[in-house]
Amino acid sequence: MKRIGVLTSGGDSPGMNAAIRAVVRKAIYHNLEVYGIYYGYQGLINGDIEKMEIGSVGDIIHRGGTKLYTARCEEFKTKEGQLKGIEQLNKFGIEALVVIGGDGSFRGAEKLTEHGFPTIGVPGTIDNDIPGTDFTIGFDTALNTVIDAVDKIRDTATSHERTYVIEVMGRDAGDLALWAGLADGAETIMIPEVNEDMEEIIKRLKRGHDRGKKHSIILVAEGVGSGVEIGQQIQDKTDLETRVTVLGHIQRGGTPTAADRVLASRLAAKAVELLLVGEKGQMVGIENNKLVYHPINQALKKKKSLDQEMYQLSKELSI
Ligand code: ADP
Repeated sequence: MKRIGVLTSGGDSPGMNAAIRAVVRKAIYHNLEVYGIYYGYQGLINGDIEKMEIGSVGDIIHRGGTKLYTARCEEFKTKEGQLKGIEQLNKFGIEALVVIGGDGSFRGAEKLTEHGFPTIGVPGTIDNDIPGTDFTIGFDTALNTVIDAVDKIRDTATSHERTYVIEVMGRDAGDLALWAGLADGAETIMIPEVNEDMEEIIKRLKRGHDRGKKHSIILVAEGVGSGVEIGQQIQDKTDLETRVTVLGHIQRGGTPTAADRVLASRLAAKAVELLLVGEKGQMVGIENNKLVYHPINQALKKKKSLDQEMYQLSKELSI
């Protein structure tokens, strides 16, 4: 193998740049040529492809976002779109591909492998919702962004004796809400994996208030429902003055933490190693701080399971 490609796809996450850098440098270290594909699968179909040198990835390890840009591409969900992509890869003499992205991007990578084009997935998403890895690139940074925001909201919550509902990202997985909740001592965590009765939550809030609690922080993962609606319900059913903050896209950006830069570098370099030994259709991951890999198609069939011990702990500590 002489030439590989790399792209970022789907939602961006902090640390993707560190991953691109590691793919490029690791490949060049092993005498491979590397081509960057801009705008994910859309750029692949369009042939928006450029050779990358050691210097192409200089000065990006500390930056959020992705130097290769990212996109969503409906056409790539069709067989025709996928074959167009492979045609472009062949045109540029690219023999294998590293795809950095979330589960949607992995479905695209799996399709490429099914069509006979060797592809390896690197998990990059702030949601931490990919099975087969303890952590995804960007989760730690997003978590710290959430904590920073909740700390600030807590100050005003205490001053005004208010109840705050804070909606964080996480459509299918509640990891951001759960970890931030534990790190921030939230009174209640609402996550998609657990179907908790609203009446129970309201009872708990009232109990806390009667006991003299000055404020409450409720972290809601977006997959549970709208934070605004949940805030309204609480306001209607209690006498508590309730405010809602939807953190939104600030969770996606920012300087990647050391943990994300290191994780991205390790996972992306491992992806290149796998291509060098002829692997394909795999995703790299980290489990118990060891680099691992699993077939993408198996990972896509599963749902990441909730860490029950952590969830239980969050309940016990927020009594
Ligand atoms: P993420 O990778 O962050 O989960 P998306 O779910 O938006 O983001 O997926 C990113 C892109 O991956 C899509 O725009 C599409 O081009 C490609 N993709 C998603 N699902 C499939 C699929 N089933 N087959 C082929 N490509 C897919």
